Amino acid sequence: MGARDGADTDGDDGGARDGDGDGDSDGGEPVVVPERDPLLLDAMLGGLASYLRMCGYDAAYALDRGVEDDEAVRRLAAAEGRRVLTRDRDLAAATPGALLLTERDVVDQLRELREAGVRLRLAEAPARCGACNGPLEAVDPDADRPDYAPETGTLWRCRDCGRRFWKGSHWEDVRETLASL
Ligand SMILES: [Zn+2]
Repeated sequence: MGARDGADTDGDDGGARDGDGDGDSDGGEPVVVPERDPLLLDAMLGGLASYLRMCGYDAAYALDRGVEDDEAVRRLAAAEGRRVLTRDRDLAAATPGALLLTERDVVDQLRELREAGVRLRLAEAPARCGACNGPLEAVDPDADRPDYAPETGTLWRCRDCGRRFWKGSHWEDVRETLASL
């Protein structure tokens, strides 16, 4: 979810009040990756980042963090207590707790994560910036509403990069994608 993805221009504020979990049941599957586990996505899994962040995960992306080779990924994960998600069998085998994915398509990867027991459900409120993984904070809706944002509903702002987010059509698209897995 980049700035423009988050910046829905359709003027639809209907999604803003829709965050009560309807239609996005996770089916009660066993959770092997606790929701609060911070994650580190390797270079091949960048497409997953915004989905996982919208589900509330602290999901760092290796290339955003300037690491790419296996050793650097392992070192960063260990330093920050992150679980590695990777499509690299060697990296997965050499990294305690790593989760190996095999699919190339991001929706297939999401399905694979769900089958592995990862809870994929939209967060009640956006907690992580889809662009940079920074923490979001709710902003004063009157004082800090950009022109391109809907006229009503809660707005969040990334503490790190300043992008604004709200629950617009992109939020609903992701909800539907997750419900279809
Ligand atoms: Zn950000």
